[in-house]
Amino acid sequence: MTGKTTSTPAFTRRALVSDIMTWQYEKPDRFALHLEHDRQFIPWMAARGINAFSYIRQERDSRLKIDELRPLLDENGIASEYGGHVLRLLLPRDRFDANPEFFPIGADGRRNPRGNLCVASEAALAIVRDGAVRYIRDNPECALLHVWGADVLGGAWCRCGDCAGLAPQRQYMAVVNAIAAALADARTVPPPVAYLAYHDTLDPVPELDPLPNVAFEWAPRERCYSHAIDDAACAVNPRYLDSLKRYIDLFDGRGHVFEYYADAILFGGLGFATPAIIARDLRAYRALGIAGVSCLTFGAYSVLAYPVNLEAFARGTQSPDFDPDATLADVAARRHPRCAPAMTAAYRAIARASMLVLDGGGDVMRPSLNSPAPTERIRQLRAARDLFDDACAAADMVLGDARDDLTAAERAVWHYGREVVHGIADYVAAAGITGEERGARGEAAIGRIGEAITQVRGIDLPLKGTWGAYDIEWVRDRWMAVLRRRFGDLQK
Ligand SMILES: [Zn+2]
Ligand SMILES: [Zn+2]
Repeated sequence: MTGKTTSTPAFTRRALVSDIMTWQYEKPDRFALHLEHDRQFIPWMAARGINAFSYIRQERDSRLKIDELRPLLDENGIASEYGGHVLRLLLPRDRFDANPEFFPIGADGRRNPRGNLCVASEAALAIVRDGAVRYIRDNPECALLHVWGADVLGGAWCRCGDCAGLAPQRQYMAVVNAIAAALADARTVPPPVAYLAYHDTLDPVPELDPLPNVAFEWAPRERCYSHAIDDAACAVNPRYLDSLKRYIDLFDGRGHVFEYYADAILFGGLGFATPAIIARDLRAYRALGIAGVSCLTFGAYSVLAYPVNLEAFARGTQSPDFDPDATLADVAARRHPRCAPAMTAAYRAIARASMLVLDGGGDVMRPSLNSPAPTERIRQLRAARDLFDDACAAADMVLGDARDDLTAAERAVWHYGREVVHGIADYVAAAGITGEERGARGEAAIGRIGEAITQVRGIDLPLKGTWGAYDIEWVRDRWMAVLRRRFGDLQK
């Protein structure tokens, strides 16, 4: 393991990000479980050169941050950042009855309290602006304020006569600029405000006119993680890289990249390792002059399922010229000092499986359904299943010699991945057949994916954390419902 580097890090802002709700702060025993993990993880972050932590607030959250962690973050020199999907919270929904004109007109031609706001309403804009300024006044330590709209694809922006001519990107920029201007008036050194480029706003429009203290935050969630962002051979990523370059031009280079290398939701809870992609991505981001990069994490579960990616991200934010395979081997040796060769082999199998499963981008649990069945995709998924088997077999060798909770937990995550990938291959294959067999085979495949959770349920609580113990359960219900609905739509 290399010590702290003395050269200048490749990126000024090196952040990890988590959703506040995954702390389960309303349930004391669950909250305590997460805090116990944090007390080990925050010093690890600092030792690896991570210098910012960003909390994502969702509409249901009663908190903006985890106050209990503030001293530990401060002691470790890690800056705190707040915000998230807060736009709808900043315009209280109970204003709708008295002031429907504050709210956006949806596709049905009516005002509704669900979307973001009507930016043609000066009063609505002022309420949102003042609320955001209050976040900073009450939390002066906030190093970067993230003000994002509703986490939906389409429909949250306004179609009234005044707004319809403005693309969602420009409506959103009107809000962000209003906040940035107020902060610039109120403080000599105003914190920057982040404009999220994601879903509706992933592609820039030319008329954006960000103020100097506005930076973009580019979040390419649906990109392909089987190829680097600048890999011209990928069918998905070139469009994303193009949008990033256009944002860089429009913002005079002020911007951050938000990455998903440890996203247990995007990755369906499966264990993956993509250090070579992370290295090449970060080289591309550095070459473009990007100053800040962040990576979404899910507490202990991300450490369990994505240890190689977390280490690769940390190293790459210092210098993206690190050796990906050596990093993988180092992580295996650090986590498994007594059985490094077997576990290095297991991690390499997982890295190869990752390239197969993640090819094409998008959520692992939303496989694209085509008819006839794409034989190449099914072949990829079955090959990945066999690689998960190889990783499990390597872990079994280790476990045959001695009891080891960490190896057992990693094996369970890989076994879960094996079952899910097997189920997805069957699901895609079932979609491609015709005749009365199709429904039953689809249901059997969905059943296998659902049953896979028993592997995760057997993992020790501290190793899988609150996300692996509680959040994965409700997320899984959603995955199952979507898998069923999409298969059902096919039957119609
Ligand atoms: Zn409007
Ligand atoms: Zn690709």
